[in-house]
Amino acid sequence: MDDDISTAVYVVNRYWATHWSQFFSGRYSPPSIFGGYQKGGRRPPFCGPRRLDYYNAWYCRDGDYIAWDIDLMAEGYRSGDAWVYLVIAHEWGHAVQRRLHASLIMRAYELQADCFAGAVLYGAAADGTLRFERGDVEEIAAAHRRLGDETPWTDIGDHGTAAQRMSFFKRGANYGVTGCLPR
Ligand SMILES: [Zn+2]
Repeated sequence: MDDDISTAVYVVNRYWATHWSQFFSGRYSPPSIFGGYQKGGRRPPFCGPRRLDYYNAWYCRDGDYIAWDIDLMAEGYRSGDAWVYLVIAHEWGHAVQRRLHASLIMRAYELQADCFAGAVLYGAAADGTLRFERGDVEEIAAAHRRLGDETPWTDIGDHGTAAQRMSFFKRGANYGVTGCLPR
């Protein structure tokens, strides 16, 4: 799993570094990677005044870094490696949002991050930096079923239902980064 996480970080960063200027002005800068933390192991980092919660993955705006609970990653990973790519690409999407002008950020903030994840993973596949394996597409759908909220998206903090999340991921996969920007 550690190799897949490292690869995911590499591939997602490489995609944004390579394509940033096609979509956005200014220079791309990557977020920092805190990496994994775990109950009984490395403690979660502070994000602002408080430590991150266990059993989640995060982009912390305050410190501009990405961190995740190792147990969460491991649990998802049991049903396939696509999970870690999805989680990293989604959190990276939030780092990208922080770098964008407010006019480019969707109110459906979480769904935009899902869309960026689709754009990046499929974009990286098109670049040849990432190869989809048999089963990955089904794993992605299964991961979204796990990740969805029970209630639909209505406000900024909501993730949206599994179907909404999957549809935004697909929008990114099909139309790329520009498909993830407000019209
Ligand atoms: Zn998110």
